[in-house]
Amino acid sequence: MAAFDNGSHTRTHFSFLLALPVLLVAFAAHAQQAPEYVPGEIIVKLKGSSKTLKSQAFIGKAVSEKSMSLKGSWSGLNMHHFKLTSDAEMQQALNDLKNDPDVEYAEPNYILRSPGKAGGEQATSLAEARSAAGASSVVGAFAQTGAPIELSDAWNNLSGNGSAVIVAVIDTGVDYNHEIFRDSGAIWTNPGEIPGNGIDDDGNGFVDDVRGWNFVAGSNDPMDDDNHGTHVAGIVLGTTQDLLRYPMQPAKIRIMPLKFLDANGIGTTSDAVKCIYYAVNNGARVLNNSWGGGGYSKSLLDAVAFAYSRRVIFVAAAGNSSLNNDVSPTYPASYPVPGVISVAATTDVDSFASYSNYGATSVHMGSPGTSIWSSLPNQQYGRSSGTSMATPFVSGLAALMLRENSNLSAYQVKDLIFAGSEKIPSLENRTITKGRLNAYHSVLAAKSAVGSGEQPSYTAAARAPASEEEMAGGCGLVKALVDDASGPSGPHRNVAFFGLLLLLAAPILVAYSLRQKTGKSRRRYPRYQISSQVKLSVGGRELTGHVNSISLGGLQLATDSADPDSWLENGGVVTMVIKSPDGREEIQVGGKVVWSEEKKRYGVAFEGADSSVLNSIGRWTAGLLKAS
Ligand code: CA
Repeated sequence: MAAFDNGSHTRTHFSFLLALPVLLVAFAAHAQQAPEYVPGEIIVKLKGSSKTLKSQAFIGKAVSEKSMSLKGSWSGLNMHHFKLTSDAEMQQALNDLKNDPDVEYAEPNYILRSPGKAGGEQATSLAEARSAAGASSVVGAFAQTGAPIELSDAWNNLSGNGSAVIVAVIDTGVDYNHEIFRDSGAIWTNPGEIPGNGIDDDGNGFVDDVRGWNFVAGSNDPMDDDNHGTHVAGIVLGTTQDLLRYPMQPAKIRIMPLKFLDANGIGTTSDAVKCIYYAVNNGARVLNNSWGGGGYSKSLLDAVAFAYSRRVIFVAAAGNSSLNNDVSPTYPASYPVPGVISVAATTDVDSFASYSNYGATSVHMGSPGTSIWSSLPNQQYGRSSGTSMATPFVSGLAALMLRENSNLSAYQVKDLIFAGSEKIPSLENRTITKGRLNAYHSVLAAKSAVGSGEQPSYTAAARAPASEEEMAGGCGLVKALVDDASGPSGPHRNVAFFGLLLLLAAPILVAYSLRQKTGKSRRRYPRYQISSQVKLSVGGRELTGHVNSISLGGLQLATDSADPDSWLENGGVVTMVIKSPDGREEIQVGGKVVWSEEKKRYGVAFEGADSSVLNSIGRWTAGLLKAS
C-alpha cells in the first residue's frame, strides 16, 4: 500500500505561494504487483458469533494444537489474528482454514506500504507565509488551494452552534505539537482518560490514550515520524478555517491522530483495521484514509462496513497510479460500501491531475490535490501533491457539514457533498458524479437538510456486531466466561487455570484454579476469604488486582483495569504474581492462553504452577475463614 502523494505540482493563483518550497514525494506503482503480506500472519473470520462454543473451541484448538499463536481478536466480528510458527506453513494453513466449515474466510495480513519518506522539501515558517500573504489572510479567506472550492464562502455561512466533529487521520501520525494544531486546539483529547496514570481509565482497551494511538509502536504517542500524516491533517484543519489568520481561531473540528504507517511508510491490514475500530468506537464521525493498495481484504472490508453501520463517513484516496479503478481496483477506496467516498485529484484550474486514478463507475468525485500547501512536522510548511491531498478536503468539508447538522447520516453527507459538487469537464468519464468539491454549496445544503440519520442498509454491515456493548472496547477483545474456581481441565498439564472475563467498562473479574499435580479426577476445594494483592503481567503491561477468595483450587480476583488487547499480545503469554495474605510471600506463575475443551472456555495454562505453589496456597489458606 502506498500513501498517495505525487511529486508533480502546478502553478497556483496565490503568487506568494510560489515562494514556498514544494514538498516532493515519490509514489510507487503498486496496483499491479502481487500483494505482500506479513510472513506467517493470517486473519481468520469465523462463522456466527464469537460467543458460541464452536468459535471458542476453534480458537483454542488453533492455539493449542496447530502451533498458531493468537495475536489479537475482534470478537464482535468473530475475527482473529494468528501467527504461524513458520511462514512455510502459510499456504497450507490458508488452504486448511478455507476448507474448515467453521471459517467464513481466512486471508494473509497484507502489508500496506508507503512509497517512502517525503524528500527534498525545504520548509518555511508560518510567519514567512503570513508575511507573504499580506492582508489577504486577515479576513480569513486563505485556502490551501487555488482551486475555486469556495471555502471562505462556506466559512462565512456557518451557524457556529455545532460541536466539534472528530475526524480521524489514519496515517503516519500527526505532529500534534505543530502550532496550527496547538494554537487552535484542534487535536482530539480523550475525555475519559487521565493522562499518564498507567490505567485504561475509560476501559476502551488502550492505556493512557489521551490523543489517539500509535498502532505501529503499540503506544499512546501517535507522533508523525514521516511528513505525510501531518500534511494531511493540516489540510483537514485548513478546510475548516484559515490557517494563516492571526490570532488563530479556535478549531471547529477535532483531529484524532491514528498511526499505522511507520517511518518507512509500511503498515499492515490488521493495524489499519484496528485504527478503523478505534476511530469509530471513540467518537470519530469522519475517517480520512489517504492510503491504499494491498490485495482485496475481507477483514478491511468488514471494518469499512462497520464504520458505515455506525454512520461514519469513510473518505479514501483513489490512488496515484494513473490507473482506471474500474478495471484495477484500489483498496480501500474501491470497496462498494455506501459510506465510502473515493476521491480523485484535480488541479487549481480544474484539469484532471495526471497522476490520479479515475473510474467512471468506481471513483466518486474530484477534489484539489495538486500543489497543496499545508503543515509539516517541526513548525514547518510545504506543498505536496496527490490524491492523499485531495482526500482531506472532502473529510474536512464533511466535518463542517456534520457540525452544521449533526443528525446527518454518513450516506446523507455523502449525497449532499455530491449534490453540492460542481460538474467540470475533466471529471466526465472519469468519475461517477463528474463533480469537484464545492464547500459553500455543500455546507448550505447540510444546513437546510432534514437530518434523519437514516441510510440504506448494506449487506456486509449485517456481519458487524449488533450491540454497542459488543464493540465498545474496540479490537483485541476475547470474551470468555469467568471460571468458578473449580478444578480445571487441561488433560495432561500441571495447570493453573483462569477464565478471562473482559467486561467492557467494568472491572475484570478473573478466577483461576490450580489443579493438583497428581489428581486425575477433578475436585473442588473449600474456598476461604482473603484480602490480598495480585499482579498480572500480560503483553508487557502490568495489571493489579485484589483477591477476594482463595482455595487450593484457585483464587478469584478483581481488577479495575481493562486492557483486553494486551491479554493476547505476544502469543498470550501471562505472568501472575500472588501475594500472601500477610504480604510477606509471593508466588509467581507463568503461562499461556489456551483453550479448555472440557470447560469450553479460555484459560491460562501456568506451566510454572508446581508443587511449591500448591504448598504455598495450602499454607496460606490454613486458618482463614471459609467463604460463603
Ligand atoms: Ca483508554
